[in-house]
This record gives sequence, structure tokens and C-alpha cells, in this order.
Amino acid sequence: MKVAVVAVQGAVEEHESILEAAGERIGEDVEVVWARYPEDLENVDAVVIPGGESTTIGRLMERHDLVKPLLELAESDTPILGTCAGMVILAREVVPQAHPGTEVEIEQPLLGLMDVRVVRNAFGRQRESFEVDIEIEGLEDRFRAVFIRAPAVDEVLSDDVKVLAEYGDYIVAVEQDHLLATAFHPELTDDPRLHAYFLEKV
Ligand code: GLN
Repeated sequence: MKVAVVAVQGAVEEHESILEAAGERIGEDVEVVWARYPEDLENVDAVVIPGGESTTIGRLMERHDLVKPLLELAESDTPILGTCAGMVILAREVVPQAHPGTEVEIEQPLLGLMDVRVVRNAFGRQRESFEVDIEIEGLEDRFRAVFIRAPAVDEVLSDDVKVLAEYGDYIVAVEQDHLLATAFHPELTDDPRLHAYFLEKV
């Protein structure tokens, strides 16, 4: 199968190696393409939107004309995984780091495909990055979750969204049909189980 990783900014390489490992795990040959332009998204079976800086990734996706082909892929039920900044890009609503009483929405380009509200930098300045073993629905044993200036879901906006993992006050992994998003970076471990779970959607 052919899997595209959106490669305009952010952690692309790590997804490439773990996607290959995940392919081995489920007995599928995985060819990874780095998607910079619309033609890179032709005939792909799945797409990954990596971590990085979500405003930059969103703007570059617009500039590189990737938004329309990505929306078309989603429309035709192609599985899409968003990690960290990728989770922000997939969300329908994004708000800044939680300050009680603020309901300001951030202006940034989003694909808006998942019915969730995402808080950027949810874990705040005091916890810029950390690792923790969490339970993820669908995986047998705990998974080491690496959070780096991580966003998180604070509200699910429809019944179509399935919560796969929670940490603290937040939801940190969600699934909606063919879409999957994690607040943490599964590509920064050597555990391919989450990517394997994703590839099984193809
Ligand atoms: N805080 C970043 C953002 O909202 C995401 C950080 C990451 O992807 N590691 O864009």
C-alpha cells in the first residue's frame, strides 16, 4: 500500500520508518511518499499529517495546494492520521491554551474533518514535554505517549467520535470512521502498534 506523509513542515522522517515497521507487523508492503504537491497524493491508500507547528503546516498546505486533494481523499474514505499538530489540522474547532472563561477561536487553516474541539498547548508551559504510558483502546498493552507542546481534545462535538485514550483532564486520542488523531507522537517511539492499527483501516 502507498502511504503519503504530508511533508511541508514537521517530523516526516520518523513517520516513514515507523510506517514501514507497522507494515511489516501487519504483513503489508508499505511504500511511503513525501507529499509536498497535489500529484504526490495521487493513488495513495492512506495519509499522515505529522507534528510540527500547526499554523505553519496549515498555511503551507494551502500554499502547496494540498487542501483540496486532502479533502477529496477524506471524502472518499481514505484513512488519515494526524499526530500532534496534525490533530489540530484535522479538528473542526481550535482554541488557545485553556484560560478559564476564554472562548476565543484561533484563526488558522484547518481541514476541519473531525468533530472535536482541540486546545492548543493544552498541557501548558509548566509541562512542555513529557512521556507517559497510557491505555489506548484497541491496543492490548500500555503505549508510551510522547507529548511535545501537545494539543488535546477538550470537547467531542458529535457521537461519531470515539475516544481512544485520555490523560489528565483531556482526551488524547480519537477516532472518527477513517480518521485517527493523537495528541502525542507515536512516531517517536519504536512501537509501531498505533500505526499498525491505523494501516488496518486501509
Ligand atoms: N503546539 C504545536 C501546534 O499547535 C504542536 C506541537 C507538535 O506538533 N509537537 O502547532
